Amino acid sequence: MTQHLQKNLVNNISDTLRFLAKPFSIAIMSLFVIITTLGTLQASASTPTVNVVSSIKPIQLITTAIVGDLGESTILLPPTANPHNYQLRPSQRALLNNADLFIWVGPELELFLVKVLSTASVKQISLIQALDLRPERPTIHHNQRHSNENHHHDDHNQSETNDNGSFDPHIWLNPALAEEIANVIYQHLSVQYPTLEPQFNINLRQFITQLHIAENEVAALFESKNQIAIYTFHEAFTHFADHYGLAITGTITQTPEARPGAKHLSMLTQEIRQNQKICLVKEPNFKAPYVESITRGTEVIITTADPLATNIDNSATGYFEFIKSIANSFYKCSQ
Ligand SMILES: [Zn+2]
Repeated sequence: MTQHLQKNLVNNISDTLRFLAKPFSIAIMSLFVIITTLGTLQASASTPTVNVVSSIKPIQLITTAIVGDLGESTILLPPTANPHNYQLRPSQRALLNNADLFIWVGPELELFLVKVLSTASVKQISLIQALDLRPERPTIHHNQRHSNENHHHDDHNQSETNDNGSFDPHIWLNPALAEEIANVIYQHLSVQYPTLEPQFNINLRQFITQLHIAENEVAALFESKNQIAIYTFHEAFTHFADHYGLAITGTITQTPEARPGAKHLSMLTQEIRQNQKICLVKEPNFKAPYVESITRGTEVIITTADPLATNIDNSATGYFEFIKSIANSFYKCSQ
């Protein structure tokens, strides 16, 4: 009996303890959840997560270098898409609208974005506008510029109007302009996330240092080589060529999606025939079936260069790999 009572008492005490312990542990758990949540809230208030979207891959590579590990640097268009002519899907519109900042080249390249952005509320930078590179500005004529041998580093504030009056919007292919693009992205991000400015600044300096190293490597490639006439698939490499003192003799088409006119093709064929040997720079994302017929009878070095950095990984060093890959393609034209 006594034993039975004792057992009952022990059971009662442990039941009571369990009864007490349950709300107590719930209280502790709740407190823990509150503290953790507060901690997270506080952390996100002091270190915001950066969410930047760039229109195309080469711009994304520069953005990624400045954002570093402070957030997301994503791309709007698929890497193989033609930015001259594109239609956004609803999911891409959502990606754009949810961005803290959207970076694009400008109407001269992504014309389709003008309408899209007119109804979007996202903060945006048009790089051609931000760098004041539009063709309305007074320009130096092509031939005048080529007569100046040492224009490598002082060409970057001039707008790139070609002999036919068109403006080459592929500004990211000039490393001096890439440096200015990085600067503009740094400035905008620093205004938008002031607490992160010191880290953006470190990232910018690192980018510029590495960029100058890459540029010197590339410039050395083109120093003492005899160049043959270069023809590119579309008008994308004016900025690259001018920066490194190369000359592009002609282009097959102005934009990748436009089939060149018969008149232009016959003019090109005649022009090409006058050379014993030419270099043709093709692009991996576009087919140019008429190339064979216009180059018949002339020795052709064929090389491939991708102005859209399709196969370059998105990383803080991606831009340097990209510019070196373009340089290696053009190097094949200069031996
Ligand atoms: Zn293009």
